[in-house]
Amino acid sequence: MQRFATAREAALSLRPDDPVYCFRPDVLKADARGFMSMFPGKTAYAVKTNGEELVLRTLVEAGVTAFDVASPGEFRAVRAVSKDAEMLYMHPVKAQSDIKLALETYGIRVIAVDHEDEITKLTRVVRALDIDPGQITVFVRIQTKGSAAYELSKKFGAGPANAVELAQRLHRTGYRVGVCFHVGSQIHDPDTYERALASADWVRNRVGFALAGLDVGGGFPADYGHDPASKVPEMPSLGQLMSRLRADLAEWQFDEVPLVAEPGRVIVARAFSLIVRVLLRKGRRLYINDGIWASLSDSWTGKITLPARFIADPAIRSRNGEETNIVPFKVCGATCDSVDILSRPFWLPETIDTGDWIEIGHIGAYSLSLRTRFNGFYPDTFVEVTTPFEEGDAPQGFASLETMATP
Ligand SMILES: *Cc1c(COP(=O)(O)O)cnc(C)c1O
Repeated sequence: MQRFATAREAALSLRPDDPVYCFRPDVLKADARGFMSMFPGKTAYAVKTNGEELVLRTLVEAGVTAFDVASPGEFRAVRAVSKDAEMLYMHPVKAQSDIKLALETYGIRVIAVDHEDEITKLTRVVRALDIDPGQITVFVRIQTKGSAAYELSKKFGAGPANAVELAQRLHRTGYRVGVCFHVGSQIHDPDTYERALASADWVRNRVGFALAGLDVGGGFPADYGHDPASKVPEMPSLGQLMSRLRADLAEWQFDEVPLVAEPGRVIVARAFSLIVRVLLRKGRRLYINDGIWASLSDSWTGKITLPARFIADPAIRSRNGEETNIVPFKVCGATCDSVDILSRPFWLPETIDTGDWIEIGHIGAYSLSLRTRFNGFYPDTFVEVTTPFEEGDAPQGFASLETMATP
């Protein structure tokens, strides 16, 4: 992989017409180690966030030893980079053949359920393979309420009373039993974990045995651009959120229970930026060579404001003059699909033109993993960049569509 100090150097040297992912392994290691040093339990990286081999390998180098996996493809991806990493199979709804593969071939011994029929499937496989249920930790996933860019409480999780029944049934069969939740991705409200802990506590007080673990899931917010027009309050830093979580865990007396977290976004978001090229400028609209069907679907559905930095083509500057006012541009994606328009504008110099580049920061999470081949576009070029995104020239600025006027 070619190495550059900054994305600007990469763009001006390669003059790429295709999108280029700028990977920052040292940032990834620092963010993974930072999370592990703050969280008082086991950190299991959520593979779906970004399951690229170079990411998983770098995380193993950083000392990550546990991974949250959801499918045979993810089991394989983790095994390919580590013979002995622990895998936690935390998808509540699973094919029976996948459960068998997990237990038999990959030695997985931690699994999540949120329905009695999932327990039936699991126990069928456990009996057929003659595994002692006492070697398996089953986490009962409980429903949570919260506010996040991606809400998952409507899709997964058992109501509290049902969770108690499921936990008791698992306990009677001889499994080790824990409680887990996942509050959704990119939470908006620092009280989210405390509300979930209160539900977990309600369940714990009724099951009649000691829990083998509490898994607080993911959802930890990554840093993106702050949108001045957004009604969503700005989140505290990860450090502040973690001290709050540690205090809540102590207050609810979960600090004696073995803890697990499944962070994804917060670990990998900063590790990548993306160089895109302006294929065409049409008034205040920029057509770029990536979009919602490639690297940018997460920012589109989650209405996330990504930081963007202008990379001027020197040839165009001699024609258009230097960067002047920073103004909002509507950004259209590469495909012929009419919905392929970003939900947030990029604020960029008024002189930006066809042929210039833009570096989009903090796109490591839910970007590469959500790429499609729609319309024949599939970005797949990688370079390594050594300087963190934040340390280059300041990003141009961000805002929402509601404030399309010049500031
Ligand atoms: C997606 C997912 C995660 C990771 O969520 P982030 O918001 O990226 O931290 C963790 N646990 C489960 C069960 C998930 O589905």
